[in-house]
Amino acid sequence: MKNICILGSTGSIGTQALQVVDFLGDQLNVVGLTARSNVDLIEQQIEKFDPHMVALADEASADLLRERTKNKRVKVLGGQDGIVQVAAMQESEMVLSAIVGIAGLLPTLEAIKAGKNIALANKESLVTAGPIVMEAAAEADVEIIPVDGEHSAIVQCLAADSRCESLRKLILTASGGPFRNASMDELGRVSPEQALKHPNWEMGRRITIDSATLMNKGFEVIEARWLFGVDVSRIDVVIHPESIVHSMVEFIDGSMLAHLSTADMRLQIQLALIHPERKESPVSYLNLSEIGRLTFLEADTERFPCLSYAYEAGRTGGTMPAVVNGADEVAVDAFLKKKIEFLDIPKVIKQTMDAHEPVLDPVLDDIIAADKWARHFAEKASSIHTR
Ligand code: NAD
Ligand code: MG
Repeated sequence: MKNICILGSTGSIGTQALQVVDFLGDQLNVVGLTARSNVDLIEQQIEKFDPHMVALADEASADLLRERTKNKRVKVLGGQDGIVQVAAMQESEMVLSAIVGIAGLLPTLEAIKAGKNIALANKESLVTAGPIVMEAAAEADVEIIPVDGEHSAIVQCLAADSRCESLRKLILTASGGPFRNASMDELGRVSPEQALKHPNWEMGRRITIDSATLMNKGFEVIEARWLFGVDVSRIDVVIHPESIVHSMVEFIDGSMLAHLSTADMRLQIQLALIHPERKESPVSYLNLSEIGRLTFLEADTERFPCLSYAYEAGRTGGTMPAVVNGADEVAVDAFLKKKIEFLDIPKVIKQTMDAHEPVLDPVLDDIIAADKWARHFAEKASSIHTR
């Protein structure tokens, strides 16, 4: 039985991870959970999974939860410190990092320093602080196993041959999101409700909007750069609307390996949680003749410039990717609150990038300062775009 902690247990990845835990029976034991403020849901999770320690980032919610669970053995902590304590708690062997945004960075780093293997969904940790996170993992001798579907696919393809000299390219697939075929005019009019309807996946709000702008794919390019140590110039993106091929690896001899499965994140979550084992999962088997055909198309960076911005930030490196992430978190939030239009999201990000003087070999404090600066700048830029 492996003891695990889930950071972000009330989210899309967190709740699916608990379904996997349930499905696998006595293979995984949940010892810690964290969330922001969803007291009702985490209370149900405590009831069912009986963790030793939980934390809510929102202090008032933590107080309420403490009151509601006072007759239980669970220890309830509050605030960012509480989250970090659960991330580093002694009893766990593995931490599923599934908080959304840069809020996941410090807890992930603390879990690594405490010697926990990481099942990584929080791509923002690698986007904002890739070298710092990878170095900390090497120092603590812990594994980082990606949950993100594309990276999970690549790990499986590289199992056939992981030698640098064999590798030509990593090819990440992208569904293209709900506006794959939309004209610029149509993109100018999309509402948050339309953007939140992803054709193939049900995910948290932020990543769903990032999928509609293709920023999510850009972040995944940077994530892959750090996970696999491959320069961004050797990471390609291809649009694949069916979301059956989750990514591919191309080798120098012209061979290409791909990972295919039903579009259901519980597979990638299970693979990471029980790595390197493989077991039956709650995911349905693929029926290829029913699917019939798989399509691959070039990504259009004119309509979806966020993808180019992420590549540019990946090439610049230093604090630039953290700035793109910070600006994107603010712009997506402003779009969801109907303060800016869909096409303002890339504009706000570009303006923030253009105004940033990157620090090239940043320490953690530089990253945190750059994020703060970017948020402040993007707030101002969003208020100028306000309709
Ligand atoms: P979500 O919004 O559904 O859930 C986020 C979780 O983080 C919730 O439990 C929430 O309570 C918690 N949280 C939010 N803000 C917090 C804060 N400031 N402090 C502490 N906790 C906080 O998001 P999601 O879709 O589950 O995505 C989580 C992460 O996984 C993201 O980094 C996303 O990019 C990545 N990811 C998600 C999917 C997916 O299918 N949902 C796929 C690949 C990668
Ligand atoms: Mg992905």
